[in-house]
Amino acid sequence: MTQFRPVKSREIVMGKLSCGCDLLEELTGICAESEISLGRVEALGAVQKARVGFYNQETRTYEFHELDRSLEIASLVGNVSLKDGKPFVHAHVTLTDETGKAWGGHLAPGTVVFACEFILEAFDGPAFKRGPDEETGLPLWSMKE
Ligand code: ZN
Repeated sequence: MTQFRPVKSREIVMGKLSCGCDLLEELTGICAESEISLGRVEALGAVQKARVGFYNQETRTYEFHELDRSLEIASLVGNVSLKDGKPFVHAHVTLTDETGKAWGGHLAPGTVVFACEFILEAFDGPAFKRGPDEETGLPLWSMKE
C-alpha cells in the first residue's frame, strides 16, 4: 500500500568522515548522536573497499558483493527512519573505478571510507518505523501510529 505524508526540514548537518571508518556505521552513529530519526542523506567521496547488497526477490534474501578495491563514491542517496527504536540509515551507492565502470547497490556494513563528504537533513514529524512487510519480505515503513 502506498503511504506518504509531509515532513518539515528541521536542520542540516554537513561534514566529512574519517579515513578508515565504516561508511554505514559512521552515518548511523552521527544520526544517533545528532538525534536524527527521520531524514535523508547524501554523500560522495571514495572508499578503500566496499560491500553492497542485492535483494533477491525470489529467495527474499540479500546477496552481498565484496569489492576489495578502491572506488569512487559517485553517489550515495539514502534516508533515515526508525528500526527497533533506533535510527536506521538505508542507503544505496554507485561506486566507480578508474575506467568509469560502475557498481552499485544497497550499502552494507564493511564499506571502508577513504574520504567522504556528507549532508544529512533532519526532518520533524512522526517517526517512520520499519517493520516486516509480508508482500516483499523487507523491513519497510509503516506509518500507522
Ligand atoms: Zn536497499
